[in-house]
Amino acid sequence: MKTLTIRGHHLFDMLGPLATGESNHKTLGPVALGIRANPKTPIKVVIGVDDICAPCEWWDHDVDHCAKCLDKHPEDNQNSLDSDANAIRVLGLESEDVMNADDLYRLIQEKVTKKVLAEQVCVACRLVDRCKETYAQRIADTVAALT
Ligand code: SF4
Repeated sequence: MKTLTIRGHHLFDMLGPLATGESNHKTLGPVALGIRANPKTPIKVVIGVDDICAPCEWWDHDVDHCAKCLDKHPEDNQNSLDSDANAIRVLGLESEDVMNADDLYRLIQEKVTKKVLAEQVCVACRLVDRCKETYAQRIADTVAALT
């Protein structure tokens, strides 16, 4: 099975489609639904561009960053890189480690509570207050969907 490359914070962005089986995001949706259909998919965790950003219309390959919110939120790219690194560290992994999706999401459930998500992983993200309210249900539903 092909190994997917996924940046740390996208592990959390995928929780909605992994939990529900639904997504209208053009590049994250197909990746997440593919994992849901094949829970043993190997995932390589990374900091920075991944298999979701690389084909996205907003990724600027010349400067290696996302251009979507650059005008209003120029801090987003650095915050996303920080969240990638935080996610990998909190899980006790190193960048470029590979785990099967089902094992990886069980590890996330074990290591990342709502409090850890908000205070150690997505600490700088401007969307964290919204994400943290649905997190507990979504990680539980995701682990169930991948089991
Ligand atoms: S390029 Fe930007 S908008 Fe596209 S998936 Fe990556 S972070 Fe999201």
